Amino acid sequence: MLGTAHTLSFCYKPKDATRGKRPYRMPKKPAPSPGKQVADLTGHALPGTLASRLMRCGKANCRCKADPPVLHGPYLHWTRTVAGKTVTRTLTPEQAERYQPWFDNARRLREALTDLETQSLRAFLDAEG
Ligand SMILES: [Zn+2]
Repeated sequence: MLGTAHTLSFCYKPKDATRGKRPYRMPKKPAPSPGKQVADLTGHALPGTLASRLMRCGKANCRCKADPPVLHGPYLHWTRTVAGKTVTRTLTPEQAERYQPWFDNARRLREALTDLETQSLRAFLDAEG
């Protein structure tokens, strides 16, 4: 059984930007073939985002309504869009840890696609004006 004090290192989306390593995303060194990065990715990719949230419940006399409130959670919410609707599913810490690489893969794919599109657009404009 997992301890309740188990901590996870999630890659919440833009928080990376404040972590100091790279203040903003520099265009990567001219990659020889941006398409190759995508081809190198193996395994699974899960859509959506994983976020940790503290919640209030519906009970009237709950500690989450106290002053100061003691909120429930944190709960790990996986949110994605299906046919235009937001779908949320709560994951256990163990599930979140297990599937984190799948979320990371999807994020890397999105970044690689963005890079590829940017470079392709530049190539198009260079060629066609
Ligand atoms: Zn409550």
